[in-house]
Amino acid sequence: MPTLFPTAIAGSLPKPAWLAETEKLWPRWKLEGDELLQAKLDATRLWIQAQEDAGLDVIGDGEQSRQHFVHGFLEQVEGIDFANKVEMGIRNDRYKAMVPQVVAPLRLKGRVHEAEARFLRAHTTRRVKFTLPGPMTIVDTVADRFYGDRVAMAMAFAELLNQEALALEADGVDIVQFDEPAFNVYMAEAADWGVKALERAAQGLRCTTAVHICYGYGIKANVDWKTTLGEEWRQYEQIFPALAASRIDQVSLECIHSKVPAELMALLKGKDVMVGVIDVASDTVETPEEVADTIGRALQFVPRERLVPCTNCGLAPMKRAVAEAKLRALAEGAALARARAAA
Ligand code: ZN
Repeated sequence: MPTLFPTAIAGSLPKPAWLAETEKLWPRWKLEGDELLQAKLDATRLWIQAQEDAGLDVIGDGEQSRQHFVHGFLEQVEGIDFANKVEMGIRNDRYKAMVPQVVAPLRLKGRVHEAEARFLRAHTTRRVKFTLPGPMTIVDTVADRFYGDRVAMAMAFAELLNQEALALEADGVDIVQFDEPAFNVYMAEAADWGVKALERAAQGLRCTTAVHICYGYGIKANVDWKTTLGEEWRQYEQIFPALAASRIDQVSLECIHSKVPAELMALLKGKDVMVGVIDVASDTVETPEEVADTIGRALQFVPRERLVPCTNCGLAPMKRAVAEAKLRALAEGAALARARAAA
């Protein structure tokens, strides 16, 4: 019988201080060449162990091999000019970032994540999840000097993502997850073409597919933005119906300490729901009771066999010790929720 409330993280984990700058979203690497490649895998091994020690059921690579969740993919794409980055307002101008430019037809230079995906598969017997940026979020994180059309460029990226996703499946990955924080910003476009682009990226996959939609990392620009969203955050309401009708198996959402009305989860009928029970915008470590209570609230709207306790978003910019404690809180809270469900 499958585990009730199998636990997983959204994706990223902090990088050790010997690998990269700490507590940054775009950290600079501290090594280069072969030493950097080896160090990335060493950090991956460390986090596989930490997730197993905490007792998580689904294990990820913690995104230790990529500098940033979008640009890590783009670095392996031909047709992008990284030498001449330009400043662009992203997520509807919530913050400015220096982004590379699309200047020619897009093509993969080769495999993107083969080394870390195979390493992950080789070093745990538990189910493994691997994350890729979603097409709409990529389009919102690069400057277009070639396609002149967001949908056409998203579909071009979706084809490349699909190539890599199929290869990840062949590497032994059990769950391929696409990260689409942009869905919560461009809700009408997400429902109109974002979900189609996502399905193109997941086409032909036989492994489990997932999409992570969130209100972002716990950085200041995101925390400030959340204060403008009103008493109830209803962004998901506009995109969940399209996702419920899609072929994607699992949908992730923020729950703990967010103003997302819990009843919106009912819109995801037929999907596994990854419920955020760990806050990534606070260093305060959740108690198992808080985690189990959040799971309990979600159970009003999500069938128990479809509930996957998860983090609200990635833990990348956090302190390492805090992230480790939060992994343990996630596993202990899920265990408590199982005990409550059995009582
Ligand atoms: Zn996120």
